[in-house]
Amino acid sequence: MSGDTIFGKIIRREIPANIVYEDDLCLAFTDVNPQAPTHILVIPKQPIPKLADAAPEDKELLGHLLLTVKAIADQEGLTESGYRVVINTGTDGGQTVFHLHLHLLGGRSLAWPPG
Ligand code: AMP
Repeated sequence: MSGDTIFGKIIRREIPANIVYEDDLCLAFTDVNPQAPTHILVIPKQPIPKLADAAPEDKELLGHLLLTVKAIADQEGLTESGYRVVINTGTDGGQTVFHLHLHLLGGRSLAWPPG
């Protein structure tokens, strides 16, 4: 169910991660190089490499990922202060791990536009 990336290894428990949430469809863990006081990655267990590869049949899964980010943000106490959800896609998007992931960033005021 999981592809051959570092995130596939985390899903298969071949390398450790600080997992904060898991269900049948997705896994969430803290980013190893946090860019904000809260920096959590939410990934599907199905190894879609990047958003550009998502298909119409992934609609429910993509909705589930967004609602999961929202629930984790709430759990982390970020709902009132606000937060940012980022999906880097492809080379110009700054994607480095080719297993779709949503960054949840919060706990400080975030600048716009991003670099
Ligand atoms: P992106 O640049 O959008 O592909 O994001 C990849 C993210 O994965 C970066 O923020 C990395 O810090 C993070 N990352 C890479 N390896 C690990 C790991 N083993 N555990 C947790 N986060 C990781």
